[in-house]
Amino acid sequence: MKTIAAIATAQAAAGIGIVRISGDRAIEIADKVFVTASGEKLSSRSGYSAALGDVYDGKTKIDKAIALLFRAPKSYTGENVVELSGHGGPYVMSRILRAVLNAGAEPASPGEFTKRAFLNGKLDLSEAEAVMSVIGAKGEAGHKAALNALLGHTSKKISELAAKLTKICAHLAVWADYPEEDIKELSEESLIASLTTIKTDLFNLINSFDAGKAVIDGIETVIAGKPNVGKSTLLNLLSGSEKAIVTPHAGTTRDIIEETVRIGNVTLKLADTAGIHENISSEIEEIGVKRAVLRMERAPFVIIVLEAVNELTKSEEELLRKAAEKKVLVAINKTDLGVKLDVNKVKRYTENIVYISAKSGEGLQELISAAESILGTADFDSSEPILITERQRKLVKTAYECVSEALEAIKMGMTRDAVNISLDGAVNALLELTGERASEAVVDELFKSFCVGK
Ligand code: GDP
Repeated sequence: MKTIAAIATAQAAAGIGIVRISGDRAIEIADKVFVTASGEKLSSRSGYSAALGDVYDGKTKIDKAIALLFRAPKSYTGENVVELSGHGGPYVMSRILRAVLNAGAEPASPGEFTKRAFLNGKLDLSEAEAVMSVIGAKGEAGHKAALNALLGHTSKKISELAAKLTKICAHLAVWADYPEEDIKELSEESLIASLTTIKTDLFNLINSFDAGKAVIDGIETVIAGKPNVGKSTLLNLLSGSEKAIVTPHAGTTRDIIEETVRIGNVTLKLADTAGIHENISSEIEEIGVKRAVLRMERAPFVIIVLEAVNELTKSEEELLRKAAEKKVLVAINKTDLGVKLDVNKVKRYTENIVYISAKSGEGLQELISAAESILGTADFDSSEPILITERQRKLVKTAYECVSEALEAIKMGMTRDAVNISLDGAVNALLELTGERASEAVVDELFKSFCVGK
């Protein structure tokens, strides 16, 4: 396998920056660009060692650095690895990387180091996915949950369930194939009991996904409402609250501004807040609402702002109707001016209603608690195994459906063979999750979402 290299640290001015090299030739290539202060070659040193020295591109000295040496299999990737820690400036880092590439390494693709770690059995697929979640975690609960997944809590649970199902499959298969042998048949009762427990475990895992996503990555959220109801004021209140962190950053794929706001243990990714700030006159309220409906299509969570002082308009009802298909929270704003709005009309669409004054901050805590309970993070236990990617959720859902099918088949008195086919499907899905039975295409796709250098 070719030897790869990439800058592993962020491309910004920093105390140090790291160029990582991994592969059979990593040490030999590092020796071409790095001269240790003692003159001793890295290739004559043992693993887990550090050496001070200078980095050269050809004859030009480009930095003073530390080389960390790891020998296969005792490294992140399981291969020979050298990490050159130089001065963390984007230019100097690009020069070190160029020197390493000139010396014979190939540029690493996104996630290629972790992919090699997976291929070399250092971690399974669900743990590999947790690597990016730890990097992306935005708060304490999210970090803890992602770290637990990285440390193997989720894969242990999945492997346990797969093992239980495999055992049941094996038993059923032997019994079906050799009915004349004296193999104790699993009683229907105990079979149903075991499968029901597994089904419940799978169900709990599926349920962990939304809450986990809300605390780890953040949940795409839209604040919608007609003009002048107080959407921007609410956004500012959320951003400005003591517990909130606001990080404006340009969307990577779309050229819009996205703001991340943390309230309680939930991270809200407020998509397209530019739309909120737009000043649309009330004559074109419908246009504003249409636009909000469009934005809502992409977001699983919607906060609808209504005015306490006015009756519901037709377009607001339309908004409520559309939002009812999602997780929705209605914030009745401007309560400091009195409440005229008929709340029973709102209750036709949702019971998730809070009263606030975005201007004074009144009701903020109620809004946070309501969001936490709607998103399931109120009693989120970050020490429980959780699913952290859509891929994982889909596979566990498949396993769940297969086990449900098997239970149906038993209850309908179908042959044990038929039951076994469903259970096989469940085992396959779970083993694809851990990577034991994942195809090359699945593995390739998964690592594409990683950053280069990880
Ligand atoms: P947007 O168009 O929905 O973003 O509305 P804004 O946030 O710009 O607010 C419209 C107007 O309502 C501004 O003058 C705000 O100061 C005012 N406003 C917002 N929230 C409240 C509130 O809770 N009470 C009162 N009295 N005024 C509010």
